Amino acid sequence: MSAISMDQLVSLCKRRGFLFQNADIYGGLQGVYDYGPLGVELKNNLKAAWWRAMVYERDDVEGLDAAILTNRKVLHYSGHEDTFSDPMTDCRKCKGRFRADHIKDGKCPNCGSTDMTEPRPFNLMFKTAIGPVDDGSSFGYLRPETAQAIFTQFKNVVDSTSRKLPFGIAQIGKSFRNEITPRNFIFRVREFEQAELEYFVMPGEDEKWHEIWKEKRIKWWLEQGLVREHMNIYVTPKEDLAHYSKATYDIEYQFPHGMEELEGIANRTDYDLGNHTKGQDEFELFSHCHENPESTQKLCIRDEENNRWVVPFVIEPSMGVDRGVLAVMTEAYTEEDMGDGSKRIVLKLKKHLAPIKVAVIPLKKNNEQIMSKCHEIKQNLLKLGIGRVALENTGNIGKAYRRHDEIGTPLCLTVDFETIENSPETVTVRDRDTMEQTRVPVADLPNFLRDYFL
Ligand code: ATP
Repeated sequence: MSAISMDQLVSLCKRRGFLFQNADIYGGLQGVYDYGPLGVELKNNLKAAWWRAMVYERDDVEGLDAAILTNRKVLHYSGHEDTFSDPMTDCRKCKGRFRADHIKDGKCPNCGSTDMTEPRPFNLMFKTAIGPVDDGSSFGYLRPETAQAIFTQFKNVVDSTSRKLPFGIAQIGKSFRNEITPRNFIFRVREFEQAELEYFVMPGEDEKWHEIWKEKRIKWWLEQGLVREHMNIYVTPKEDLAHYSKATYDIEYQFPHGMEELEGIANRTDYDLGNHTKGQDEFELFSHCHENPESTQKLCIRDEENNRWVVPFVIEPSMGVDRGVLAVMTEAYTEEDMGDGSKRIVLKLKKHLAPIKVAVIPLKKNNEQIMSKCHEIKQNLLKLGIGRVALENTGNIGKAYRRHDEIGTPLCLTVDFETIENSPETVTVRDRDTMEQTRVPVADLPNFLRDYFL
């Protein structure tokens, strides 16, 4: 069990400004959340860590930022129009609608009635009118995964970068699924963000790369603070595989509501490029693809060794950014007994993920001399590029420490009368986890913080 219940986490997120229900003042929009002042920082930091590991630290990956609005042909030929659906069942008594695989013992999860309809497929894609006239003939979709644009831009990326196999294309962005039962806070929502890598490999090398990416992704999650004992690798049974997959590993995490999928790592074979390519008959495709008379590009690459053109296989590590935020917060949440009957709540986030890196706190509220020193220190720290540095002016140090412990700020700097009177000037640096306080000369702060954060 995790140390925090979902209710506690939801309440912490709202109280401290990580996440809010979308359209809260109108009663909300189901399955849609907004990231608040701290949530946006945490989410951006998680995405930056992913981008750094998947693009900057590698020599074989390019980035992409494609549009959300999607030409319907893309999702027709990808197979999503036909197959991207969940079977669902209606309760005839309370009129509730549920995913068939969420029904236990044939009973309605809402009212307990057993008067349920047979499961029927329900397409999860959001359809939207494009152009000024909404006559039903001109429509597109909000993308249900970021991956498809990577496949349709495959040739443009290869041509503009001269890439050879193996290589990858990475993308982070919003995806939309009209989930039947959004639930468990930001775990299952209708608008969410994905970070996906499509790693293209020579057919026959796919299984090897599938294993490599599984190990790399587990390691990355450990670097984000998750512990291995709270993770599980689930091998999807053949009958449950998505329409494009030959094999899928799910990295599962012990969320407050249970062990569930955090990231999927699928072997999508040549299914997607094979479906989108022009001239399918010219290739030896592994997948059974739909005929495609509409594509204008051959999505293939040269295999010099065997003197042929091939449609590459693809390995796809696909993480849910929102589920990532939920997981790192769950893991970081700690309650410490202070020994005097009181408790301290600390969000022990890895420092690269912390929304605020350093809080500069004046000992005395509204004291001009101290405040001006605080401003000067903050401006100098910003130049280091370590992330957000926040200035407090509440005048209550104890309260400020408690707040920053609870939101995961690794260091608090306190500026007091000694700072401005002493020569050299010094500040108190308090560590979130150990609560140890040390005095550091102001002139040494840049080096001290650079060593600490970078
Ligand atoms: P699930 O089985 O939980 O519905 P999935 O297997 O359909 O997920 P994928 O299509 O593999 O999910 O998408 C990759 C990742 O995107 C998932 O591992 C998850 O982290 C995230 N994701 C998918 N659907 C949602 C959603 N509705 N809300 C939040 N994140 C999601």
